[in-house]
Amino acid sequence: MKDTFKTKRDIKEIIVHCTATAADKDIGVADIDRYHRSLGWRGCGYHWVVRLDGTVEAGRPEGDDGAHCTGHNHISIGVAYCGGIDGRGAPADTRTAEQRTALRRLLGDIIARYPGAKICGHRDFAAKACPCFDATTEYADLCER
Ligand SMILES: [Zn+2]
Repeated sequence: MKDTFKTKRDIKEIIVHCTATAADKDIGVADIDRYHRSLGWRGCGYHWVVRLDGTVEAGRPEGDDGAHCTGHNHISIGVAYCGGIDGRGAPADTRTAEQRTALRRLLGDIIARYPGAKICGHRDFAAKACPCFDATTEYADLCER
């Protein structure tokens, strides 16, 4: 899924999340959309979601501000992989091999459209474990220095 759309929003950050769901639970945009609407939001707060098998689903249009990181929604694109909670209910990097591959490719595609943006994790901006790995370091090679 290669997207060539480029929003007029001034994108400075691509923020990586987990869905904070159990590692073996495969959820997608439709599920997240239902959940986020139940919170009174305008549907799925992420722009992209990577399912357990590496399938990339489009959530909120990139032209619209997301609802995923307080104070950063207007200058960012939100990307979430499905998972983030291990069998004991603790935060963990539960990414499948397929998700790792798909996430890296997706982030590469996005940053090609927003050169100069930084790839970060939700935890860089909030007291949370999300996305349960160091996204800034892992994807530093995709960003301009
Ligand atoms: Zn998050």
